[in-house]
Amino acid sequence: MAVDPLIELRDVNKHYGALHVLQDINLTVGRGEVVVIIGPSGSGKSTLCRTINRLETIESGTIRLDGKPLPDEGKELAALRADVGMVFQSFNLFAHKTVLANVSLAQVKVRKRKKDEADKRSRELLGRVGLADQAPKYPAQLSGGQQQRVAIARALAMNPKALLFDEPTSALDPEMINEVLEVMRQLAADGMTMVVVTHEMGFARSAANRVVFMADGRIVEDRTPEEFFTAPESERARDFLSKIL
Ligand code: ADP
Ligand code: MG
Repeated sequence: MAVDPLIELRDVNKHYGALHVLQDINLTVGRGEVVVIIGPSGSGKSTLCRTINRLETIESGTIRLDGKPLPDEGKELAALRADVGMVFQSFNLFAHKTVLANVSLAQVKVRKRKKDEADKRSRELLGRVGLADQAPKYPAQLSGGQQQRVAIARALAMNPKALLFDEPTSALDPEMINEVLEVMRQLAADGMTMVVVTHEMGFARSAANRVVFMADGRIVEDRTPEEFFTAPESERARDFLSKIL
């Protein structure tokens, strides 16, 4: 596939003290592409995600979004965080705000929409994630799967160029995993550019354009799901798959 790059990491390195957590990372995510990142715990998957919307700084290398280097601070940084939405394992909703307010808040603050306009967009998106009737409730009144779908609606409300998901279903009870993956599959089908850290291999197989396997801070494999799951090249990946499949 001819790739129109949206996210590009070149020779990215980062340490935490003596730990070389990201080592010479080169990764391109094309517009509309879904890249699933897998790998053992501690391999640097979350750190990699967090560098892309600059929740983490890097020591060397470059990261570009839509051809432009990531900004360091100020308004540009706030705009970047809106352009590259992030969905975490812990949903991070505001407990004292309604579902509707959770989805509307940043639209007003960051995107400078009028409240009415923001609420209209929020209702539309809540409908899209199957939560049209939950708008007046508070997060604690919702199940984990519903809360995570609110978090996805909130990220979508910013009209992001890309969405990053860091283990979005890891904190959920098993019966709620599918309702969240289903929303993510729909986003992928609608052409959203997505980077997804997950242990859900079914999702990787069915929704990913590419699977990136990380170990010890490096990208060890970067291939189509079919290639990766049928014939992993590295011993590390074979060993990892043998433990989780
Ligand atoms: P993964 O998401 O693949 O489990 P992480 O990116 O969270 O891996 O972490 C990679 C490594 O970096 C781990 O060894 C972790 O302990 C370490 N690490 C992560 N965040 C920090 C931090 N803020 N300070 C020091 N070490 C960290
Ligand atoms: Mg992690």
